[in-house]
Amino acid sequence: MKKSILIAGIALLSILPAAAQKLVEGEIKGVTPQSTYMPTFKSDGSKKAPVNVILMIGDGTGLGQITAGYYANGGALTVMNLKHIGFVTTSSATSYTTDSAASGTAFATGQKTYNGAVGMDKDKQPIPNLPEMLAPLGIVSGVVSTDDMDGATPASFYAHQPNRNRSSQIWADLIKSHLIFFAAGTKEEFEQLSDATRTGIREQFTVVDNLADPALKTASRIGYLPPKSETTYLTEGRGDFLPVSTQYAIDFLQQHRNGKKGFFLMVEGARIDKCSHKNDFAGTVMEMLDFDKAIEAAIRFADKDGQTLVVISADHETGGLTLAGGAPEKGDLSGRFATKGHTPSPVPIFAYGPHAQDFTGVLGNDEVARRIEKLLTKKK
Ligand SMILES: [Zn+2]
Repeated sequence: MKKSILIAGIALLSILPAAAQKLVEGEIKGVTPQSTYMPTFKSDGSKKAPVNVILMIGDGTGLGQITAGYYANGGALTVMNLKHIGFVTTSSATSYTTDSAASGTAFATGQKTYNGAVGMDKDKQPIPNLPEMLAPLGIVSGVVSTDDMDGATPASFYAHQPNRNRSSQIWADLIKSHLIFFAAGTKEEFEQLSDATRTGIREQFTVVDNLADPALKTASRIGYLPPKSETTYLTEGRGDFLPVSTQYAIDFLQQHRNGKKGFFLMVEGARIDKCSHKNDFAGTVMEMLDFDKAIEAAIRFADKDGQTLVVISADHETGGLTLAGGAPEKGDLSGRFATKGHTPSPVPIFAYGPHAQDFTGVLGNDEVARRIEKLLTKKK
């Protein structure tokens, strides 16, 4: 996001008559539109099984968040150019309003579980995630997130813990993980882990805090953990960590594929959710636009490659966000949040590439992972 964007992040609290919910209003002004990408659609909807799958999860990204990004950007987003579209229901095994751990686990394993669970089923037994299911077939995997690496969504793709709050145990699960690439926060958090956990992770991964590190040239497994200032909110100066890491991950996984075997990559735009929790409308819009840049990198690769499926969805909606006016032609937009928590509203799913048609209609969040697994394990 350019500095020229003037952010009016003042949240106005407007209290409605008794018995109604407090609505929190926010606005963003003078957004300079970023470019978007129109796909070629050559591979879109083809019946050949995809070799690679990129799963992109906008945390807390419902229709309100996507639409806010779309209008703030002058009526354009790369994701809004896609043609295979559906809805995902996000309820967990125990609650119709999920948390990111239960939904992340559903997206990672194909099974619904209780809120708070990371890679564990309803009976607190570990269940295999996609990287674990795909590794025996020679398919390599990676994870990119603007959250910390022990955040519920990235953790669901490598860890098995009964509760998302078990931070040090989640980090330690990286040692046994099947990932060959991860990029997330933070260097500081990594340095505070126990000696045994840090040593264990370093034995498995080349751990760096910047992508110019010469050690990366010969690395076969990478852990990219930049300082907090580079993975924090865009409103606090994050920069282009998400699109750059997404591109790096794609290139690395493509180079380190086993012959004709493919790769699986999960990319999370984590701070859309965090901004919506804070009812920060301007922050939500900026994070959405940044997530769309990462989506563009994935779709451009899918076009070049021709055998990559990109699936874009969300683990749940956050904030009950709706748009409430503004002047989109000037990049001015305002919105209203109905809650500081998650909502059970279905979230959109977009797909592009071979078998994108398998991700239309209304799907459960667990069904998405099962379909990805089926496609990647299909005989080519
Ligand atoms: Zn959340």
